[in-house]
Amino acid sequence: MITIITNTNINTGTEAGERADGRASNELRPLKIEAGVLKRADGSAYLELGGNKILVAVYGPRELHVRRIMQPNRAVLRCRYNMAPFSVDDRKRPGPDRRSVEISKITSEALTPVVFLEKFPRSTIDVFIEILQADGGTRCAGITAASVALADAGVPMKDMIVSCAAGKANEKIVLDLSEWEDKEGEADVPIAMMPRTGEITLLQSDGNLTPEEFEKALDLAVEGCKKISEEQKKAIIARYGD
Ligand code: ADP
Repeated sequence: MITIITNTNINTGTEAGERADGRASNELRPLKIEAGVLKRADGSAYLELGGNKILVAVYGPRELHVRRIMQPNRAVLRCRYNMAPFSVDDRKRPGPDRRSVEISKITSEALTPVVFLEKFPRSTIDVFIEILQADGGTRCAGITAASVALADAGVPMKDMIVSCAAGKANEKIVLDLSEWEDKEGEADVPIAMMPRTGEITLLQSDGNLTPEEFEKALDLAVEGCKKISEEQKKAIIARYGD
């Protein structure tokens, strides 16, 4: 997926080293988060990050009837990441594919450590992440929105989960890669973390980075997560007050 580019700035219209959309290397795209946007879901959230538009609905905890996956001593957290056919330039074929199955799995694994699943034996909490418009970094934005939707549903959690990527594009380590930077850049490091303790619950790496570059990208992603965490808090406060 990642292709190496030379520093020729093809399609960027910028000088070497500058980002195509004019952002500083440690700058996030414009972010908007709203909690409680769907009346029929137990919890929900809507998030925009740059051109990403993401809706999340949470149902549960509710009784789980599928014996094959039911756990006698805790709930299961099921996540479904889905890209709408109209979310990308070329119409995406509806239904799950390898990528969405992988992102659903890592989303569940990133969120599970903060949820008190043991309070709800034989139950399920279902998280539906719908990508309405994709603009790079949807897995991270989906996790950030899902955490807000879980809080909105009143699911007991020991912390929020916040997610953000950093990577290398145009020879620079940058925060929150745009779709172009994601596709044409050299590397992408999506992370998810608990903002209070700094514990990392997701760490992926795609592309080539030196150990120093990796460390720099990780630090940048953690900084990005901290900024996004403030917006998560504001969304919850806007809905429920302090
Ligand atoms: P992420 O969205 O987390 O960065 P990827 O690195 O797999 O995940 O995808 C990068 C971007 O490529 C997506 O955000 C989206 O904008 C675009 N993309 C993903 N899948 C498709 C697809 N099937 N068709 C067109 N664009 C896609």
